[in-house]
Amino acid sequence: MKSKKAQVYQSTGSYYAIKDEEGQFWRARLKGRFKISKHASRSNPIAVGDWVKFDIVEKEDHEAIIDDILFRDNYIIRTSPQNRHQKHIIASNVDLACLIITASQPITSMGFIDRFLITTQAFQIHNLLVVNKADLLKGEVLKRYELIKKTYEAVGFEVMLVSAESGEGIEELKSHIKDKTVLFTGHSGVGKSTLINSLIPSFDLKVGKISEGTGKGRHTTTFAEMFDMPDRLGGKIIDTPGIKEWGLQEVEQEELSHYFPEMVKRLNECRFDNCLHIREPQCAIKDAVSSGEIPVSRYENYLIFLEELKRPF
Ligand code: GDP
Ligand code: ZN
Repeated sequence: MKSKKAQVYQSTGSYYAIKDEEGQFWRARLKGRFKISKHASRSNPIAVGDWVKFDIVEKEDHEAIIDDILFRDNYIIRTSPQNRHQKHIIASNVDLACLIITASQPITSMGFIDRFLITTQAFQIHNLLVVNKADLLKGEVLKRYELIKKTYEAVGFEVMLVSAESGEGIEELKSHIKDKTVLFTGHSGVGKSTLINSLIPSFDLKVGKISEGTGKGRHTTTFAEMFDMPDRLGGKIIDTPGIKEWGLQEVEQEELSHYFPEMVKRLNECRFDNCLHIREPQCAIKDAVSSGEIPVSRYENYLIFLEELKRPF
């Protein structure tokens, strides 16, 4: 039988929830050749967002076997939660990655924001900063929000303000998601689930449960899951639970500055082609930091990340 095409919506590591082009979900396993050894550099061969080819194993029970993977437009990875020497593909074929930020309860650090921005740019995925809990912006919290907005807009990123609770900004957020596959990420507690629930009222019901009989609910997993937006909006949301840190995967020291747009446009003004903007003379980046054209926090984080990239892991 000719194999059919489907997209991966959820993965538990051994089972995949895939949706075919007619909108039917299947519980799928991987054909043997996809199995990977403990020593492989990637901990998952197939990720949420992947388009795959599958064969039906059991039609009534909707069981299938994945036998091929189609070309990925892009993907985003992090260190595997199980093994830090392995990389885990979080999701693929992503049109936009949204970082949900809060200026309080909890505070999202600028280091975390910068790591997210570098990682998404390194994987060529558009990004959007979404500040949630607009209803809490008062006093110090308001000041912190204004600093975030000023810092990131000044260097060319988009910052949106929403409140999942009051509904402020939600229509604008919807217009960003429309007809796209959008990854949502952020620290635990920033309101990611509340936000997804307000965008997809039937969120909890969308994807069939694919428990492996371990008794674990799907929300205990650290794997990403994809959900369809309601029909009139179109688009899909990928929820990514449990990402505590963005580890600057697959970025070389020399290219780090390429992921700082405010540095990129000044790089050829540095005296040395291989300038890392640390202590080198006639460095256009350090000059721009001194004159206030590059935010100090961005440059300080640049130096921290540069140190990190020197380490072997
Ligand atoms: P998640 O861990 O990112 O999924 O966060 P949750 O969606 O579970 O939300 C964490 C807490 O923040 C909950 O107590 C929510 O009620 C609260 N919360 C979410 N959105 C808002 C908001 O816009 N304003 C306020 N004040 N609280 C919010
Ligand atoms: Zn320089």
